[in-house]
Amino acid sequence: MHIEQGVYEGEDSYFWDGMPNSFPKNVDGTILNILKSIERELNIQRVMKKREFLKVFSVATVGAFTFSSFALSCISPDRKPRLKNWAWIHPTGSSDSANSKNEWKKLFSNLKKWNIDYALLLTQTNSIIEQVIPVAKQEGVELHAWIIALNWPDKNTMKEHPQWYVVNGKGESCIDKPAYVNDYNWLCPTNPEVVEFLKKRVEELCAYDGLAGVHLDYIRYPDVVLAPEHKAKYDIPQDDLVHPQFDYCYCEVCRSKFKELSGMDPLTLPDQATNEAWLNFRFDTLTNLVNEIYDTVHKSGKILSAAVFPTPDLSKFRVRQDWLKWKLDYVMPMMYHRYEGQPVEWLETATREGVEALAGKIPLFSGLHLAQLKPQELGLATSLSLKAGASGIVLFTGNAMNEEYWKYMKEGISSHKKYSES
Ligand SMILES: [Zn+2]
Repeated sequence: MHIEQGVYEGEDSYFWDGMPNSFPKNVDGTILNILKSIERELNIQRVMKKREFLKVFSVATVGAFTFSSFALSCISPDRKPRLKNWAWIHPTGSSDSANSKNEWKKLFSNLKKWNIDYALLLTQTNSIIEQVIPVAKQEGVELHAWIIALNWPDKNTMKEHPQWYVVNGKGESCIDKPAYVNDYNWLCPTNPEVVEFLKKRVEELCAYDGLAGVHLDYIRYPDVVLAPEHKAKYDIPQDDLVHPQFDYCYCEVCRSKFKELSGMDPLTLPDQATNEAWLNFRFDTLTNLVNEIYDTVHKSGKILSAAVFPTPDLSKFRVRQDWLKWKLDYVMPMMYHRYEGQPVEWLETATREGVEALAGKIPLFSGLHLAQLKPQELGLATSLSLKAGASGIVLFTGNAMNEEYWKYMKEGISSHKKYSES
């Protein structure tokens, strides 16, 4: 309110202690940015802490003093940002809840020891959540439900709702003619029933108090073009052209929605593979889906993150993910260098591309594939990711982590003094 009225406590007041001598010209913008950065910082903390922030914020809007001292305490120049490391983890038994409580306990206590405070738990059925929440809580690891979103090779759903599944540029459903592998059965993100189905899945997860957030994986179209290493594996054209059998989605819903918008039928477009309006339609349909899920998750006071392809350009080109535009709290690009036919050093370039394109909008965490890294290389990958501006790393998978890896990961972290140790 002081700002709006143009009156202030004065340059020498407590409010501006430690700030530049002259009164900042864009003070309201500065404060808004501070608030945004505080909110981002707090987003990763437990829900209670977030609620406390909102409480403090609402008090602060009434009392400038409370607000200002709170804001300044959060941007102290001496305060180093805390490094956040994550792990994708999964049950190792034959069923979703096959692991014993002791096995989970051992995994979480190890993660904690290895400076990994955040776990993304592969969640196929809700029973695993109920089993794991108390153990994660006991060990002090923040738990998020990692879900496979659009790749949904479920026999019952395919039988009951065949129209929910994507159709390729030749008019073939992925149920009858899946691309690449037999379980490449994908839901269509344009179909409103699919959107509701996913939102319901997410809402059910958000009902668990012990969960801090939801993590979206396979939130994309089937691969239009494969990464170099995968291309070699399948009997497909070895080029970067868009072939109609791998180009999705041409289902009735997509066709009629696009027709409504543009007056054109995508199935008969002469430039089907390159038509800009048709490409944008698919970027936007995924963006809208993620944004709806974000609103659903945030209504419950939880956090939304997503695993995406390595760089903004590769993501758009290969799987129609325009993730720079998505509403997310965190983004975790899968920097799996071997799939790209690249050395470990490529991680730095790829991470930097994402970090620079995001321009501070949200934190980016580099996804590192342990099976593609020797222990020494994990040290290098960690160091390069942090150097390129990642806010931490995500291990695929935490189950494969061990002392040997940790020895080098620790070295990679300590090469970056800008992060505090804990
Ligand atoms: Zn469709």
